[in-house]
Amino acid sequence: ASAEAAIVVIGTGLAGYGLVREIRKYDKDSPIIMISADDGRAYSKPMLSTGFTKNMDADALAQKDAGGMGEDLNASVWTLTKVTAINTASQTITIGDQATQVHYKKLVLALGADVIRPPIKGDALEYVYSVNDLLDYDDFRTAVAKNNVKKVCIIGGGLIGCEFTNDLLNGGIETETVDPLGYCIPTLLPEVAGKAVQAGLEAKGAKFHFGPLVTEVNKAGDSLAVSLNNGETISCDLVLSAVGVRPQIKLAQDAGITVNRGIATNRLLETSAPNVYAMGDCAEVAGHVLVYVAPLMAQARALAKTLTGDATEVSYPAMPVTIKTPACPVTVSPAPRDAKGSWEIEQDGVNVVARFVGTNGDLLGFALTGEGTKQKMALQKQLPAIMP
Ligand code: FAD
Repeated sequence: ASAEAAIVVIGTGLAGYGLVREIRKYDKDSPIIMISADDGRAYSKPMLSTGFTKNMDADALAQKDAGGMGEDLNASVWTLTKVTAINTASQTITIGDQATQVHYKKLVLALGADVIRPPIKGDALEYVYSVNDLLDYDDFRTAVAKNNVKKVCIIGGGLIGCEFTNDLLNGGIETETVDPLGYCIPTLLPEVAGKAVQAGLEAKGAKFHFGPLVTEVNKAGDSLAVSLNNGETISCDLVLSAVGVRPQIKLAQDAGITVNRGIATNRLLETSAPNVYAMGDCAEVAGHVLVYVAPLMAQARALAKTLTGDATEVSYPAMPVTIKTPACPVTVSPAPRDAKGSWEIEQDGVNVVARFVGTNGDLLGFALTGEGTKQKMALQKQLPAIMP
């Protein structure tokens, strides 16, 4: 079998759908095929870590099914369809094992990021979940209900791990969260801010284990035993792994497209292969890997223009991220990866205003908690653009 389209988009996450929605502002009719390995339902991924708080199951979080999206966008949406290879010379992609070929004039990779799976042993690994899309979320909620879950052990105390900790507590489920580093959200926050988040969550009943790694998950009667490498054991009913994500680069790499931490692109979102673009969580745009919604929206606006004939580079303003831990609100704008400077911190209990100041005195980033988050607008104005 074979097919062809002017534009083929692989991925129906916020990146893929966001792009096609933008394209249709300029071009109503060019044939577009969108392909998804999942069921193609449109949903807001950030809401996956607020579902227990809002008491919304997967169907409630789904905004529209693939058929409805196809109609809205005048696109053909292929679901439960995995792209297995890209041939950049013939400009074709291969689907599944059946060697269905699709020819593209322009191909957009909006493949997202894979969850990192920590190396854990034991006889109960089927009770270790991770939630990175709507289908995962459905599985997790189903397991919580089916196993009458009272307590969840969360592996990872970063952004996603802390959001799920807060969300599960809001849903009346106990939590114990394990992280090898020393405090909450350690890769984005300075210690005082991370400790403020910890205090806020502990006041709601969270338990944290900082320092150890999880080594095994085993069955123990009606519950589970999670073993840590400091000799401790946590008893729980289900395990949620949230140790981070990694841009999906394999499909591109196998096709000989240049990859680094993500699929490498320039500011036009062009990869190293002609007529192949990348955006969203899978992309590394001019050296930046930013797995958040605001960057992919900026990419969608620029790439839609480029694909409809008006070559437009993406620019990034400063884009602070709000972390959904209402027990201790957090807004963070990380400094660039290689930035030289130091934290200047004002603290009043769980209210922290931490400024990351460069060696020349310029504000390069900030981390705000509690009442400190009220400073977001004022500080955001002082930040340099990430990519002017
Ligand atoms: P995805 O939504 O992962 O989409 C990838 C698509 O590619 C899927 O449709 C998949 O099926 C398809 N695909 C992949 N490989 C193939 C293949 N080989 N063949 C066919 N299809 C394929 N960001 C924020 O800015 N603010 C937040 O508050 C926030 N909260 C978050 C909370 C959680 C729990 C999580 C997990 C993330 C959160 N993020 C947040 C990050 C944000 O959700 C992501 O940056 C964004 O959703 C990524 O969208 P995407 O379209 O690039 O990837």
